[in-house]
Amino acid sequence: MTYKPSLLYSQLPAIDRLLREPQITLFVEQYGQTLVTVTLREMQEQARIYIKQYQALPDWCDNWALALSQQLEQKQTLALKPVFNLSGTVIHTNLGRALMAESAIEAVTQVMRSPVTLEYSLNDAGRGHRDYALANLLRELTGAEDACIVNNNAAAVLLLLATVASGKQVVVSRGELVEIGGAFRIPDVMVQAGCQLIEVGTTNRTHLKDYRQAINEETALLMKVHTSNYNIEGFTAEVSGRELAALGMASQIPTAIDLGSGSMIDMAQYGLPAEPMPQNYLNQGIDLVTFSGDKLLGGPQAGIILGKKRWIEAIQRHPLKRALRADKMTLAALEATLRLYQRPEQLCQQLPTLRLLTRSQQQVHDMAQRLLPQLQARYGDQFIVRDESCYSQIGSGSLPVDRLPSWALTFAAIDGQGSSLEQLARRWRELAKPVLGRISGGRLWLDLRCLEDENALLQALLL
Ligand SMILES: *Cc1c(COP(=O)(O)O)cnc(C)c1O
Repeated sequence: MTYKPSLLYSQLPAIDRLLREPQITLFVEQYGQTLVTVTLREMQEQARIYIKQYQALPDWCDNWALALSQQLEQKQTLALKPVFNLSGTVIHTNLGRALMAESAIEAVTQVMRSPVTLEYSLNDAGRGHRDYALANLLRELTGAEDACIVNNNAAAVLLLLATVASGKQVVVSRGELVEIGGAFRIPDVMVQAGCQLIEVGTTNRTHLKDYRQAINEETALLMKVHTSNYNIEGFTAEVSGRELAALGMASQIPTAIDLGSGSMIDMAQYGLPAEPMPQNYLNQGIDLVTFSGDKLLGGPQAGIILGKKRWIEAIQRHPLKRALRADKMTLAALEATLRLYQRPEQLCQQLPTLRLLTRSQQQVHDMAQRLLPQLQARYGDQFIVRDESCYSQIGSGSLPVDRLPSWALTFAAIDGQGSSLEQLARRWRELAKPVLGRISGGRLWLDLRCLEDENALLQALLL
């Protein structure tokens, strides 16, 4: 039976009346008049749209208080939700990259609660600059002459280029004109920094003479970019940092390398793929290097520029520095993270990202064995639940081909239908603490490398 829509519209209760309902007055006390009123207006609008489309009242109109409580609850949950990252990518850009060490977390909460000596020197009661303490620490750890900290590595590259080479030419190999996820592309950053990009060499081979021949009176910088997210194989040649540094010195032109992730310690000692180390390039005579705070370094989002004092001082004075500078929470987290590098023997335990990356396949395998029986009992009627070996990715610009042997729980639909898998994945995404896996080869994979709290996962999945 269909009603005339106008009759249906008139059945929608007035906001004033709803606000006087005893149950709803309780919500007003809890959430405040403004939020409750706004939410009720939105619900009325939703109801009108429903009536227009279906010529009927939506079911929830039977109980406005209940529907309201659900909507209010939804609005209270924060947009940045903690999740279980079982995607198999350890440093996952979309999930916030590195997890922070406990000491970094403490340092951040401290500077949030109390005034701090951010740009204040206790010795002469004057104004210091905000990267000062960190620059000292970085000098000690890397042997760099000086350092500058900005919002992220993209900002570091932009600021470096704008300071050293604005209005001038920058020479880069054609094989290194990278694009990093989305909007960071070397040629575009050059334009934004007011530099003219001079591409040399070919996609697969660039020689020192290519750089040398490109030099003229307009050349302000010789640059290399770490090709973090791809690999050119076969008949290839690239100019090493050492060669580029020597050419720069001979021709009196500064040199710079964007390392992307970089690593301040030798990853090979943990059996991980080697990642370029900033201190090595500085030792070789490269003037400036940049890298991220939240990739392999394992700290907060930040861009770190290390190098020669005269260039860093110019970078610190550039007007863009003010726009790109890091805030006190970032600086506090970064300082605490870097302090851990003073005792590298404990790094593997204290830096969560490194801890997860260095877990052995056996450890992850054992965890899978412990979880398997309960998940089989819970999901076995609809899914074939197994444990399988798999590979994790380091993520965030580390080579996709460098993969870490790991172990996963896999779920395959007994009915063989992809839609059942999709449904399962969706159900897990809707949990209070969402469980994020990855669908591949007709199975939903939960790579356990990044799981540290087994019981919490069981609680979530056994519901
Ligand atoms: C990741 C990356 C960047 C961007 O760094 P953000 O910290 O994400 O701004 C720039 N260059 C390279 C080579 C990278 O790998």
